[in-house]
Amino acid sequence: MIIRKSKAEIEKMARAGAVVRGCLELLAQAVRPGVTTKELDVLAEEYIRSQGGVPTFKGYRGFPGSICTSPNDMVVHGIPGKVRLREGDILGVDVGVTLEGYVADAAMTFPVGEISEEAERLLRVTEEALYKGIAQCVVGRRVGDISHAVQTHAEAHGFSVVRSMVGHGVGREMHEDPQVPNFGPPGQGPELREGMVLAIEPMVNAGGYEVEIGDDSWAVYTRDGSLSAHFEHTVAITKDGPRILTGPDKRAA
Ligand code: MG
Repeated sequence: MIIRKSKAEIEKMARAGAVVRGCLELLAQAVRPGVTTKELDVLAEEYIRSQGGVPTFKGYRGFPGSICTSPNDMVVHGIPGKVRLREGDILGVDVGVTLEGYVADAAMTFPVGEISEEAERLLRVTEEALYKGIAQCVVGRRVGDISHAVQTHAEAHGFSVVRSMVGHGVGREMHEDPQVPNFGPPGQGPELREGMVLAIEPMVNAGGYEVEIGDDSWAVYTRDGSLSAHFEHTVAITKDGPRILTGPDKRAA
């Protein structure tokens, strides 16, 4: 069942989204060679709580971190820990905040110092794919239009989109209906209606789309060891078009 949100609820979600955005901006400054992912986690939790929010991921199905930190060939769901970032790494960071009973969820992949040209291209194309998906968030279109736009953009650049994990509705719960895959034909799936709020989150691999779960049963890696990037926004469907609740409203071209 897809739960549509009132204007007042969307304003609450935008307040949670502003904390997510503030946290990601703080982390963008903190990510550098020598820092550990645990240090980033502590910084994020302190910031989120200082804003009156709760880190949504902490304790979710037993997840121990406040954020997910996923370097290099790790796709998503990395537990912050002893990993020390090195020049040339890329680091996916996923942040969820609950505020006033509503959740907002966003992710970015950061360069650590100077990165390779291929890594730079992967980050750029994945973020562009997110905005291509967001541009489809128009009343009357379908979830499959988002999926198709993301897939088409990533594959046009020689990359692949992960199949086994998807975006989702978001609201009082972090994961609500509908699922929002990053692949598939256009014109399919639930119709987009005013008040729906979706977390759109392309996970794009430089190599093949297959993934596997790590020994901690959380971390997801690319099967072929290729780099992976992840960008995500929480987006409300409004009659005036998509409204990005987790960031500056940078519209897709
Ligand atoms: Mg999400």
